[in-house]
Amino acid sequence: MRILALDVGGTAIKSAILEPDGTMTDQRLTPSGISPVEVMTEKAAAVAKAYDAYDVLAVSMTGQLDHKTQTIRAWSNGTAFETISFPVGKRLRDQVGRPVFVLNDANAATLGEACFGAGGQHQNLLCLTYGTGVGGGIIQNGKLLTGARGLAGEFGHLVTHPGGHLCRCGHRGCYQQYASTSALLRDGQQILPELKNARELFEKLPEEKRLQEVVDNWITEIVLGLCSLAYLFDPECFILGGGVMERQDVLAKVQAQFQKAVIPSFAGIQILGAELGNKAGMLGAFAYARQAMAGNTEDIEV
Ligand SMILES: [Zn+2]
Repeated sequence: MRILALDVGGTAIKSAILEPDGTMTDQRLTPSGISPVEVMTEKAAAVAKAYDAYDVLAVSMTGQLDHKTQTIRAWSNGTAFETISFPVGKRLRDQVGRPVFVLNDANAATLGEACFGAGGQHQNLLCLTYGTGVGGGIIQNGKLLTGARGLAGEFGHLVTHPGGHLCRCGHRGCYQQYASTSALLRDGQQILPELKNARELFEKLPEEKRLQEVVDNWITEIVLGLCSLAYLFDPECFILGGGVMERQDVLAKVQAQFQKAVIPSFAGIQILGAELGNKAGMLGAFAYARQAMAGNTEDIEV
């Protein structure tokens, strides 16, 4: 059984064929752009139709998605969330004429890392991805914890600063408004308005010492969220992903500060860097589709 995996995001649709052993071939990258959900689904279908030799379509997709009903519950137009009920699985199935299994992108990345990446043998872990927002997923007792509506793990919207910065969810003070890469850049631009991205910010660090304080505050914000999540879930490890977490200096600071900030009985929790990069979503969708084809559609296991 060959599975075509798609990772559908607001910048690009990544795609690849996965052989039964997880080998990835025929990888492609198709620019997407932020779109209404119907349009994004059409774009995903077009990418899938350009492949022919596959049996099942596995999709990691942005948006708040209930995998049990294969329905998207909320969609972001880039600035605000819209509550919807969109049968993404059925729409894709109608287009490609094959079995289709869709999972939220944060959950897919978590499952990917748990099955094929940094998760190792761990049965209780949390995966957080730091980018324009903060995405998350939960593996508890060897299973993906998805909640009653499939929406569990929205760590980016935990309120850490009541009345703080406005978030695209419509509320104020969410974790991702302080701990995301976008938040780091926003605060860096207060000092150097010409900064275009976080990579530039780190490049300027040696010559602009005031940026160091911005980075330190951002790391404190990241750790604050991790401590709260540790108390809620008591995981064996956190897996931290997103381009900025590939910097060993950032990961080392988060690790060191977490151990100091957390209640001592939780200090054994490991903080690991994600290992799969931008392949995590596709591999997670693959793992889900493989289980679903075997008849396991309720509990998703690592
Ligand atoms: Zn929010």
